[in-house]
Amino acid sequence: MAEIDKPRREVDVPGDWTYASAPESRDIVHIRDRYGYYVGGEWLEPAETYETISPRDEEPLAAVGQATAEDVGRAVAAARTAYADGWSSLPGSERAKYLFRIARILQERSREFAVLESLNGGKPIKESRDVDLPLAAAHFFYYAGWADKLEYAFPNRRPRPVGVAGQIIPWNFPLLMLAWKVAPALACGNTVVLKPAETTPLTALLFCDVLRQAELPDGVVNIVTGDGRTGAALVESEDVDKIAFTGSTEVGKEIQRRLAGTGKRLTLELGGKAANIVFDDAALDQAVEGIVNGIYFNQGHVCCAGSRLFVQESIYEPLVAKLERRLTTLRVGDPLDKNSDVGAINSAAQLEKIRELVASGVDEGAEIYQPPCVLPEKGYWFVPTVFTNVAQSYRIAQEEIFGPVLSVLTFRTPEEAVEKANNTPYGLSAGVWTEKGSRILWMAQRLRAGVVWANTFNRFDPGSPFGGYKESGFGREGGRHGLEPYLEFEE
Ligand code: NDP
Repeated sequence: MAEIDKPRREVDVPGDWTYASAPESRDIVHIRDRYGYYVGGEWLEPAETYETISPRDEEPLAAVGQATAEDVGRAVAAARTAYADGWSSLPGSERAKYLFRIARILQERSREFAVLESLNGGKPIKESRDVDLPLAAAHFFYYAGWADKLEYAFPNRRPRPVGVAGQIIPWNFPLLMLAWKVAPALACGNTVVLKPAETTPLTALLFCDVLRQAELPDGVVNIVTGDGRTGAALVESEDVDKIAFTGSTEVGKEIQRRLAGTGKRLTLELGGKAANIVFDDAALDQAVEGIVNGIYFNQGHVCCAGSRLFVQESIYEPLVAKLERRLTTLRVGDPLDKNSDVGAINSAAQLEKIRELVASGVDEGAEIYQPPCVLPEKGYWFVPTVFTNVAQSYRIAQEEIFGPVLSVLTFRTPEEAVEKANNTPYGLSAGVWTEKGSRILWMAQRLRAGVVWANTFNRFDPGSPFGGYKESGFGREGGRHGLEPYLEFEE
């Protein structure tokens, strides 16, 4: 047989298999120099502005309006006019068309929104692209489906809209929290004044463009930007019928005090200190992925983050070893890099809070583990951290850190796991890892948490209600339950 001449080529074989950077282009996003307020379908010029920056490098992105009580009053008046002028009496099937349109436009423009979200908020692009945007669109699709079926959702109760809803949202999921709030409100026939968080206003402001594209009637959704003073003005506004708030427990309590006796409706989605509980029969590698997703997803800026890990004593050592090994493979860096697992901390203030709480953990006697990690020089960064040797009384086991910091504790029996997991002022979420279905049900019945995940964590779906017990707030968002806060019933 004739010998085949094989062409010989020198092939470059990489000596190092670490990930190369894969930056997402930001060309798709057009950021204006200056933004006003979106009121009655028009842009109002602000008297005062502040600078919104990118936490990845502290680059100034735009000047954004600091709305005063008068500006908020104009937005509320525009919402009231739109409510009375037809939105509240529009047939549900017509309202649904707008919601479907918004959902589809969000899908079409999802890359643009994802890049802007990562730029302004610091979360990795793979999360804004694969989680925030698909879920935001899904919420509009889901509630579009309910808009013409409210009588069936609540038979014999004759639902009608509440009126003008004031909505205040935080910085951890800016567009997704907007979707959670705006979609059910509109589906039920309410109009809205929304205040995004001070540090992350840009996707809400881009959303105004979507509203125009969808030809939503003017004044149905109004957006005012600014700091806590703007939020307080919205809470105090006389002509608002309902306040929906997501944020810290401290501000939530303050709002509740202010609204007491006013007759305004209120829902609060506040902080959490979720227990993620791993039994000795769990699939450990799978559990480690769930633990990592539970606390390092979105830099731990997640109200339902699994920030307290409870491990059954017999598997404590192998589990912690696997977890620490997994941490060394997390890539911390540029949020716009498609290979980044952990992005930038949202603000200097939040970074300071994380540092302070981590220092308290060390001072109180916990053992700290942080993988070797090179952080970018500019911007706000924190290395994913695990604390072991944690006592229940330590601040890192009690307080919401809202950063990439995990506290590991142990238990021996299911009863002890329940008791320790419930030993918190919060009650938003929990996770259980075990192969026994009966144990999952036993635990879920006893854990005082609004959501209990089994063999998974941080799973969201628009059809599934979300909300808390105790200091995690009251009221539910998502699912059929998420319609109720936006409806009144003639029984
Ligand atoms: P806040 O509760 O202060 O912020 C949430 C929203 O409320 C923001 O839009 C904020 O505006 C606004 N706001 C602030 N003060 C008032 C007020 N008096 N009346 C009405 N609205 C107000 O949270 P922070 O951003 O200050 O974060 C602090 C801590 O809160 C975090 O470290 C974290 O522990 C927790 N947190 C919890 C969240 C959750 O989802 N459970 C979400 C965000 C934070 P502005 O942005 O201008 O301050």
